[in-house]
Amino acid sequence: MGWGVGQSPVIGIFGGTFDPIHFGHLRPALEVMESLGLDEVRFIPAHVPPHRDRPGRSTAERAEMVALAIAGQPGFVLDTCELEREGPSWTVDTLALLRERFGDAEPLLLMMGSDAFAGLPSWHRWERLVELAHIVVMTRPGDHPELAVFPAGWVEARLAAGADDLRGAPAGRILRLPVTQLDISATKIREALRRGQSVRYLLPEPLLDYIQSRHLYC
Ligand code: ATP
Repeated sequence: MGWGVGQSPVIGIFGGTFDPIHFGHLRPALEVMESLGLDEVRFIPAHVPPHRDRPGRSTAERAEMVALAIAGQPGFVLDTCELEREGPSWTVDTLALLRERFGDAEPLLLMMGSDAFAGLPSWHRWERLVELAHIVVMTRPGDHPELAVFPAGWVEARLAAGADDLRGAPAGRILRLPVTQLDISATKIREALRRGQSVRYLLPEPLLDYIQSRHLYC
């Protein structure tokens, strides 16, 4: 059991397109889980990503790849709640659903890379997100200068100095967490596959077979 209010479990939520999932998702997620003492990390593939072009792979295929990638890692869980919902998968709706499922007392930690965080103010009802969960920002290689679009002082007012600042409250703080810098993106993987290049060592081995046998991304 984790460090939440009344020792309730502490849950990390990691949403993404995962088209496909790769080591740049998996290693940082493991580091967050271990360094913050999370009980689980729920990987939630987006059904209809509202902030980007629709991916060519089906949601079911992307979810299957997540399942293959996390198999055998204690604490890593595939959550298909966005697949089961019609319409755009707004993160705020997903968090509200998880709140209903897990109750109000349990700390929920919404995990995202620094590039995603830099664009947060463009998300649907973004200010509500931090009322429903803490936000853990995983450092990612590259510059993400859009931070200026946050209202002045908004981030600073919520910034946690360390993991201890998240304890005892179910939501409300923002923690920046350095993780191993892996300059891997799904875009680069898709491009390499389109060019007929190998993507070995960028994602888990079982995904190579899965992608190859289904002729994905070529
Ligand atoms: P694409 O290249 O298609 O945009 P992506 O590799 O950025 O995809 P997403 O599924 O869009 O992957 O990302 C899901 C989440 O994982 C986002 O919060 C993103 O910031 C984070 N993330 C993706 N790659 C990394 C990485 N290499 N290091 C840290 N965080 C990452």
